[in-house]
Amino acid sequence: MSRLATIAFDADDTLWHTESHFQATQMRLSEILDAYAPHDEVQSRLHGIEERNIKLFGYGVKGFTLSMIEAAIEISGQRISAADIHEIAMMGKAMLDRPMELLPGVEAVLTDLAQRHRLIMITKGDVMDQQNKILQSGLNHYFEAIEIVALKDVATYRALFTRLDLASNQTLMIGNSIPSDVLPILELGGYGVYVPYHVTASFERHQAEPSHPRYRRIERIGNLPDLVSGL
Ligand SMILES: [Mg+2]
Repeated sequence: MSRLATIAFDADDTLWHTESHFQATQMRLSEILDAYAPHDEVQSRLHGIEERNIKLFGYGVKGFTLSMIEAAIEISGQRISAADIHEIAMMGKAMLDRPMELLPGVEAVLTDLAQRHRLIMITKGDVMDQQNKILQSGLNHYFEAIEIVALKDVATYRALFTRLDLASNQTLMIGNSIPSDVLPILELGGYGVYVPYHVTASFERHQAEPSHPRYRRIERIGNLPDLVSGL
């Protein structure tokens, strides 16, 4: 392994809170649908519909809102009221309006690492939604490149690294998703760092942590500079 040149960051639930907002909205949806089905059934049917719809809508709040409406209509056997549908649509819009909340320590880590490394951000989701979050975060100036992708797989990373002219064996990617942020980078020859967030979207869950010489896990992003200088 040659010297580590580039550090790539996931954004949602790595730099700022996201999934906790989705889960809070899902809890409220369950309350609305309590009259029609038990809580667990609402959650599992919503997950099923969401996973199916991701292939059509991609990741993001707009697709999630449509999935909540679809779930509400199906779970209620088409008996859900227009007032409840309206509330669900407003819940989706409220998610887009939520103030940005950075995770603790993020700015200090970026300030420190930007002195010695090229920093890039690689985030997945709806372009407008992600752009708004990036703008609100005020973190733009730390990054040489900010990339919004539809999917985080090996082919996407490989094409991105080629376009940005960076060597994957001199790159470390950090994120809260093993399948999206860690495994593809390990396969491409770089370091993959997992930093868990307290809740994980159903489609980002993993069975087991990889056992790989270039895999690392840290409990908080604040531990990243120490890990990097120890490599
Ligand atoms: Mg993430």
